[in-house]
Amino acid sequence: MSESPVTAPATTVPLLQVRDLKKHYSVPRRWLAAPRPPIQAVDGVSFEVARGETLSLVGESGCGKTTTAKSVLRLVQPTSGSVRLDGEELLTLSAGEMRQRRRHLQIIFQDPYASLNPRLSAGATVAEPLRNFGLHNAAERRERVQWLFSKVGLRPETAAKYPHEFSGGQRQRLGIARALALNPKLIVCDEPVSALDVSVQAQVVNLLMDLQAEFGMAYLFVAHDLAVVRHISHRVAVMYLGHIVEVADRDTLFSAPRHPYTEILLSAVPVPNPRKRVKRMLLQGDPPSPANPPPGCRFHTRCPLAQPVCREQVPRLSERPDGGASVHWVACHFR
Ligand code: SF4
Repeated sequence: MSESPVTAPATTVPLLQVRDLKKHYSVPRRWLAAPRPPIQAVDGVSFEVARGETLSLVGESGCGKTTTAKSVLRLVQPTSGSVRLDGEELLTLSAGEMRQRRRHLQIIFQDPYASLNPRLSAGATVAEPLRNFGLHNAAERRERVQWLFSKVGLRPETAAKYPHEFSGGQRQRLGIARALALNPKLIVCDEPVSALDVSVQAQVVNLLMDLQAEFGMAYLFVAHDLAVVRHISHRVAVMYLGHIVEVADRDTLFSAPRHPYTEILLSAVPVPNPRKRVKRMLLQGDPPSPANPPPGCRFHTRCPLAQPVCREQVPRLSERPDGGASVHWVACHFR
């Protein structure tokens, strides 16, 4: 399915434009068996991210949010579609050209320990992107690394230590410093706090917000923790089985979700006010296989509002008037 373009707020120039992005994984054929259908991890996703904006991708495990984010960076090669950064198409660039563009596109991984080279000191880790791009001489690099350490809340004297000598939160700060080193325009944050202790999560999220306020980069933020998403996002895109089913600005989405799947997801978010009663809704059953998604609306096998038309017609992601300045996109025949 090809989705409508979900545009960034009209007051800002889009930095990233993703159109009809697909990532299908072929499945090896068993001996003498019939060919197996590809896994449609991402199937026609379109969205934009504005400069300095945080767009979060949320949804259950396996919905395609991480694959979408990695496809934007070409850490996985998309099957088809278009990814434009500052108007330049990334998917047709050679490997060497793409390597140059990575200066503007960085990533913070979920597991800070796995993403750091245990044989590199913390200082060498943060300096690595600068060395790879041939930026600065050794003395300037040292100075920049010290500056980056202080920006992410690490003591510059710890630059000689190795990753195993840091706590989980400190290691993620190292990952953030490394991502910041080249002054990127966009950072993909792939579940950047989900591996951290709860007590540290808020510190790292607040650090990301402070750095964005200071340096103005955009975040494509992949997360399943909706409390974190609510705190950090400007807009939120909800994914289900490889499709985007709803996009709205943060406040609209959390106060007035329209898609039944979003409603169910949000009903599970704890409310800090004990007097406020929230009706909890449960998702029925498991998500269908992305190798064999249901026809029509992919959510119809679990949707409490499903009607016969939902089994036949794919709902287009289209704009809904909300009466305010915000733009709300929903893929549902009835909402
Ligand atoms: Fe539910 Fe139908 Fe809307 Fe899909 S289109 S979310 S099945 S009501």
